[in-house]
Amino acid sequence: MSKQTHSFQAEVSQLLHLVTHSLYSNKEIFLRELISNASDACDKLRFEALNNSALFEDAPELQVRLSFDDKAKTLTITDNGIGMTEQEAIEHLGTIAKSGTKDFVSKLSGDQKSDAQLIGQFGVGFYSGFIVADKITVETRRAGTAAAEGVRWISGGTGDFEVETIDRAERGTSVILHLREEATEYANTWKIKEIIGKYSDHISLPILMEKEEWKDGELLDPQDEKGGRQPGGMVKTGDWEPVNKASALWTRPKKDITDEQYQDFYKQISRDFEAPLNWTHNRVEGSTEYTQLLYLPSKAPQDLWNRDKKAGIKLYVKRVFIMDDAESLMPSYLRFVKGVVDSADLPLNVSRELLQESRDVKAIREGCTKRVLSMLEDLAKHDKAPVAAAEGAAASDAVTDVLSDEEKAKLGQYAKFYAEFGAVLKEGLGEDFGNRDRLLKLLRFASSINDTVGVSFVDYKARMKEGQDAIYYITADSLAAAKNSPQLEVFKKKGIEVLLMTDRVDEWALNFVQEFDGTPLQSVAKGAFDLGKLQDEEEKKAAEEVAETFKPLLAKLKEALKDKAEDVRVTSRLVDSPACLVVTDDGMSMQLARMLKQAGQQAPEVKPVLEVNPEHALVKKLDGSVHFHDLAHILFDQAVLAEGGLPADPAAYVKRVNALLS
Ligand code: ADP
Repeated sequence: MSKQTHSFQAEVSQLLHLVTHSLYSNKEIFLRELISNASDACDKLRFEALNNSALFEDAPELQVRLSFDDKAKTLTITDNGIGMTEQEAIEHLGTIAKSGTKDFVSKLSGDQKSDAQLIGQFGVGFYSGFIVADKITVETRRAGTAAAEGVRWISGGTGDFEVETIDRAERGTSVILHLREEATEYANTWKIKEIIGKYSDHISLPILMEKEEWKDGELLDPQDEKGGRQPGGMVKTGDWEPVNKASALWTRPKKDITDEQYQDFYKQISRDFEAPLNWTHNRVEGSTEYTQLLYLPSKAPQDLWNRDKKAGIKLYVKRVFIMDDAESLMPSYLRFVKGVVDSADLPLNVSRELLQESRDVKAIREGCTKRVLSMLEDLAKHDKAPVAAAEGAAASDAVTDVLSDEEKAKLGQYAKFYAEFGAVLKEGLGEDFGNRDRLLKLLRFASSINDTVGVSFVDYKARMKEGQDAIYYITADSLAAAKNSPQLEVFKKKGIEVLLMTDRVDEWALNFVQEFDGTPLQSVAKGAFDLGKLQDEEEKKAAEEVAETFKPLLAKLKEALKDKAEDVRVTSRLVDSPACLVVTDDGMSMQLARMLKQAGQQAPEVKPVLEVNPEHALVKKLDGSVHFHDLAHILFDQAVLAEGGLPADPAAYVKRVNALLS
């Protein structure tokens, strides 16, 4: 029963010195660390008891109890978890078992600020108790050992610690912090509750505190029984009540969680009033272990387009809250996803800097990205269900009959999602090359034959004309502008579908996409007009001949418009319009240039090519006209207008038109 004194491992002594000298600006983390240890100890007991239920002794309900004594200035954290034998206490609380400790300690510079950060990243665990305590007493007994085999461990947090054997009836561990003078604020119910609310609400174990009641004190006048009394203050009642929510929903098996519970939890973490559109909940095992519970909101937030917007993922490590808005866990193009990631591998004190470098985090981020994409693919697949079912079932009533309730719930969800977040998803084309093919399949557009935003590249390819070897698209500021652009005319005439892209981000995103599933993407407003096999030989020959006869006129037009147009040529892309603008294959589109200018950014001056329709009466009239110069400029400016742009000099345009009209 004698007391033994042991020295701390050299690294522990160094660490302790730094803990007490560097972490004073972030004192309260000690409670999170100690509660986390207590919770781990309970997890360990639960695990060992799987094979040996006797370990539960007579207390199967695992819990953590917090209590304080404001006179003695102590704060005690008690768990009824696995406990420690004497040997374990000496090893676990006297050395640092973690690999890389030496390495870590050698990095400490003595500069308090940078050391504090390093210590934070490393995780100080039990030793963080010394931030607020000048002495710690640990009393513990390993589950399954006799009451006489309890251990008391005492240290002042400097060079050594004392260990002695004690009697301890209850299994598990009590960590008694003898609070430093400047840390007595922690011997206070409200303070403790506040810290628990901040860091440990989702510990699934109940954390209990003794209920307090207001009691009247001594009579002010001892002779007067009915007279006033001194305030007696808060008095402990002997009843214990949970002070954490213990609502780590994500740790429970899926089958035990109702939709309503999932939805409530979403509202809690997102502060969204609306229910989420959908969610995915998984435990991922393998080299990195974590649980993910990820939600798709129903509505886009106001600040969706702010790329600096905080990410929506909360990071937990073993159910202990670490940080909000962990942007490293989700790529920016999925910034609308809300939820929780709970890692089993990361250190508790992981910092944002460390998150960016961690391999585990990289794996989690990839895993989460894939999960969200799978969830979207699933919704997209089921969005189509009525169509697929309708093809098989003639009666419209039968359409939804063949679907399960779950499938029915998914009907139309993808369209809803896409209307809110589709444009953000497109950013992924430039951001996430590894998932580009999956992303491409998730995109939806309006097209020249379908006004609603519901055409996928897959749909488009399935409808391609015999001999068509490109996916045609046009970008414009609005659906109306896209639908009516002159460049579409010949495609309409020949019945070739063109995708209408009207999101601001389209132009940028398409820079990263040359093809879909082996078929190149071709803007109908870029490059020379070439329909490949869709044009027959006769048409091509006729076009060449026309080009020949128009040569002199084109030369004159080119001269007249030399400040505005890069080139002037004839085209067979137009049917009703006299002219249109196109840019060279690798040129920036007129629309993108306009957008950049509007956004106040520098855009290179785009000089487009003017293409004229040799069949058009106005073009035929040009040659020999006395108004040639005015007509040339009007032709050009009208082509700008047709694109949704403005003539460079609108007043001059109006003047010219009016001169001709009168
Ligand atoms: P970590 O928890 O990161 O391993 P700590 O310094 O916090 O590091 O704790 C060191 C070890 O001490 C733990 O791994 C555990 O074995 C033991 N320990 C700490 N607190 C408890 C407790 N409440 N019950 C049982 N064992 C504990």
